[in-house]
Amino acid sequence: MSGPLEDLRREIAHVCHVLAERGLVVSTAGNVSARRDSLVAVTPTGASLDDVEPRMITVVDLEGNVVWGDFEPTSETALHLAVYANTPASAVVHMHSPAATAVSCLTDCLPAVHYSILELGGPVRVAEYATFGTPELAANTVAALESRTAALMQNHGAVTWGDSLDKATERAFLLEWLCELWLRCRGVGEPRILGKEELDDVVRVAIERSYGTVRVRPRTDATPADHEKTTGSAHGDPRAAILPEGWPDAVGLIEQCRRLATSTPRRVTRDLWQSCMDWFEERCSGSRRDAEEASDYIPGGVQHNLALNKPFPLHVVKAEGAYLWDVDGNRYVDFLQAGGPTVLGSNDPVVREKVIATLRDTGPSTGLLHRSEIELAKLVSDFVPSVRSFRMLGSGTEAVMAAIRAARAFTGKRHVVKIGGAYHGWSDQMLVGLRIPGTGTLEATGVPPGCLETTREVFPNDVDALAEVLDRNESDGGTAAVLLEPVGPESGTWPAAEKFAADVRELCDRHDTLLVFDEVVTGFRLGMGGAQALLGVTPDLTVFGKCIAGGYPGAGAVGGRADVMACFAGGISAAGRRALIGGTLAATPLSCVAGYHALVEMAERDAPAAAARAGLRLRRGLERIIEKWDLPFVTYSFGSIVHLHTTGLLHLDLGRADVLEQVALRKDLLEEYSAAFAAHGIVTLAGSRLYTSMADTDEVIDAALAAFERVLSSTEEVPS
Ligand code: PLP
Repeated sequence: MSGPLEDLRREIAHVCHVLAERGLVVSTAGNVSARRDSLVAVTPTGASLDDVEPRMITVVDLEGNVVWGDFEPTSETALHLAVYANTPASAVVHMHSPAATAVSCLTDCLPAVHYSILELGGPVRVAEYATFGTPELAANTVAALESRTAALMQNHGAVTWGDSLDKATERAFLLEWLCELWLRCRGVGEPRILGKEELDDVVRVAIERSYGTVRVRPRTDATPADHEKTTGSAHGDPRAAILPEGWPDAVGLIEQCRRLATSTPRRVTRDLWQSCMDWFEERCSGSRRDAEEASDYIPGGVQHNLALNKPFPLHVVKAEGAYLWDVDGNRYVDFLQAGGPTVLGSNDPVVREKVIATLRDTGPSTGLLHRSEIELAKLVSDFVPSVRSFRMLGSGTEAVMAAIRAARAFTGKRHVVKIGGAYHGWSDQMLVGLRIPGTGTLEATGVPPGCLETTREVFPNDVDALAEVLDRNESDGGTAAVLLEPVGPESGTWPAAEKFAADVRELCDRHDTLLVFDEVVTGFRLGMGGAQALLGVTPDLTVFGKCIAGGYPGAGAVGGRADVMACFAGGISAAGRRALIGGTLAATPLSCVAGYHALVEMAERDAPAAAARAGLRLRRGLERIIEKWDLPFVTYSFGSIVHLHTTGLLHLDLGRADVLEQVALRKDLLEEYSAAFAAHGIVTLAGSRLYTSMADTDEVIDAALAAFERVLSSTEEVPS
């Protein structure tokens, strides 16, 4: 007999068998549940957990009423529902395990060790005894959980929760091991103090052992081989995997964006806006307090220009997979993704463990060669054939500077050309035509005019204008490089026409100018070969950032033709022949290990393709919302980069008389959308860009779409 939540019921039965096999639940003692939206699937009462079958898992609503099933739900259903009501849990495991039960009788708090802080949130408290199945037991357990993901229960085992059954179960195993460890430490009379490394190793083994066997689902919906068969993989057939619907229609989309920029702007209704502000007031007092303190010490109180800053920056205390949690305990779907690098999802445990192991060995940096530098360079040149030689730097900004310097050193030419609207970092010479094409040096405050003289901006997709600039430059020292974000400026805010990069390649060849792809965002996010593999265009140099260090610091690199890259070689004695670059903390073991393992994991798990599927689902959902509510908004996507234009700010016609007022108004409105999304549990990049990751399951995306709809269904034209 089938019924609702069939997949969850199958997974719960499987988890019960694994828990029983390992002695964490015994016969009828213990229970497991998983939640989806307003339904919870729970194990039955009185049935032995080692032979529970999916059909025996009962489905209840959030009040505990049976919605489906012939079996009476566990007598601890109230406990499970209380956990769901007080945490962001999607799954709960209540185990009657020997070590946890023993510890719960001997102490009132299990001390934290390194891993348990990360996984369980801190020292694990013991819930005061109460009879099983009673509301008191549920209340005591919830009180002991507080902000943690586990609680011991006096003489009654323990409870753990997670955002998946995998996670809740993994934490159950971890907790049991920690309890065994604690008992072992006490068992030798004088407590034996384990060294930190010994402790970490024991716990790591515990996680790895339980994680490997307990996992209830494969890491992606299908194996990489399956993807290749049906859609292509991000490193096999990237075009099919990343852009299954083909390259977006840049001309049509830009036209729509321009219409949006000339139409009367829309804002969220004042009622909704007030309710969002009330939400921040009531639910974000910790973030507010910290933001106020930050503004005493940090200019404007803000270090992250584009993140969410209205009404104040959120103080984030935890990032994991698809979610962020703020200091006040609110959970958000994370479409900011740290600005783009975390295609695996935030804080991936495999990469994190490699980084922690490296930190133990070398610390973050030594200033000398580390094996991971070679491994990373080899890996990048395997994935990106145009990269024959590779140099790691401190950031995308630095890498752009290095690429330009190499281009000038190699060609002996003077100018560089960029596409209007593109952000290539904040170095002096790149502060031309930022965000909105045609704005010239508007954002170049503090930069001497001389630094900007040799930078030219051309309008997105305007091949003729580029040809003209290159021609003109010929009589003024020539053009060393054209810099291009392959999908268009600002990750495709002005989407690039499919043929544009190839046309630019041709023009560059004609002028002996180097073509530099800025793949700081697109590199590996749009497939392991980057956007260049999607386009089939080979640049001379490629700038990397973000993914290149897997979301860890020191995220910048430049790679490309060996002869051009040779400009960086030479050691101290090469003065006069080489383009000097450096950085005390560039190419550290920390960044190279993180980058190497992140890229390996991304390739193995086919993360760019999985993230792109999430992006497609999100974008299609947004399209449906826009159509349903008859909105003038524009959405499109390049794989896991999803754009949502609600204000037309970045597509304003600079020729209109009221342009400055419009910029101010539409910037405010964009910040309002960003804040309204956050108040509905979604963090975006500046309210208009959404990066997806492979952690964004269909459930995550669908819940996010429901939240988007709550905001987008309540908009109105701004009164004139
Ligand atoms: N290039 C592009 C396309 C970017 O998006 C960015 C940053 O967002 C940079 C360069 C600068 O990189 P970083 O912030 O690491 O200096």
